[in-house]
Amino acid sequence: MNAPEHQTLEKQRREAVKLEKRLCRQVGQAIADFKMIGEGDRVMVCLSGGKDSYSLLDILLKLRSRASVNFELIAVNLDQRHPGYPEHVLPDYLGKLGIPFRIEVQDTYSTVKRLIPEGKTMCSLCSRLRRGVLYRVARELGATRIALGHHRDDILETFFLNLFFGGKMKGMSPKLRSDNGEHVLIRPLAYVAEDDLEEWARLREFPIIPCDLCGSQETLQRKQVKQMLRDWERVHPGRTESMFRAMSDVVGSHLMDRKLFDFEGLKSPGGADRTDVSELPDFAPIRLHRGAGPGIDPGED
Ligand code: SF4
Repeated sequence: MNAPEHQTLEKQRREAVKLEKRLCRQVGQAIADFKMIGEGDRVMVCLSGGKDSYSLLDILLKLRSRASVNFELIAVNLDQRHPGYPEHVLPDYLGKLGIPFRIEVQDTYSTVKRLIPEGKTMCSLCSRLRRGVLYRVARELGATRIALGHHRDDILETFFLNLFFGGKMKGMSPKLRSDNGEHVLIRPLAYVAEDDLEEWARLREFPIIPCDLCGSQETLQRKQVKQMLRDWERVHPGRTESMFRAMSDVVGSHLMDRKLFDFEGLKSPGGADRTDVSELPDFAPIRLHRGAGPGIDPGED
């Protein structure tokens, strides 16, 4: 090997070490910030065969080897019987890793195909069915945590999808109770950038299973939001990080959600408050224009 080749290799090795450190630091930080995993937890790691879930398992294994708390990791994959699904890939990979795992086979694909008309997106029903199976498996395994591979960019995309199309300021929670109330779901990759996961998957040579076997596509809206975020970051580097930081620093008093801030209870400092809500004139005719920016509705009705 000549000197330039050696230098290139050395540089790549240093970059890989830096990336590993960053991933471990960010995942460790998210786990600590949201108290995701504690002593004695049994963590069921949902493995789809994509870059995110492989990385999740990989980083959790690294962290566990040096953690001061003891916790178990069990990898679970749901084989939904998508045509062409390479069913040997994950058992082979997990077998070599030597960790406990379970492959659950359930043909949700046929159910989705039967119920969703041709050409319509299948993801909503498919994910609901998948969730149901994973909750059952978690119960059978006695898992105290279900770990999912969503990352920082998934969280931001979801935030903007809700903002643009759902009329809600809502992203994805790093830790939440499952909708059936039985489980605690965690997202240890919440602080991790998707680009880093792509690079990590490439470096670690994970045997990726393509995610388009079902024939469904990401919705157009999600694609557009993803592209919008990428374009913003390209033109204004650092914007993604700034927006993501904002999600951890919400100022309820400067928004308009009365569940977040007690506007009604706001009193004049150091004196009697003369605002008696019952004595206020009827402001009902004054409303904000919907979609036309702040303005006063002249109150036609
Ligand atoms: S992309 Fe396919 S496997 Fe994934 S949720 Fe949608 S229908 Fe299901």
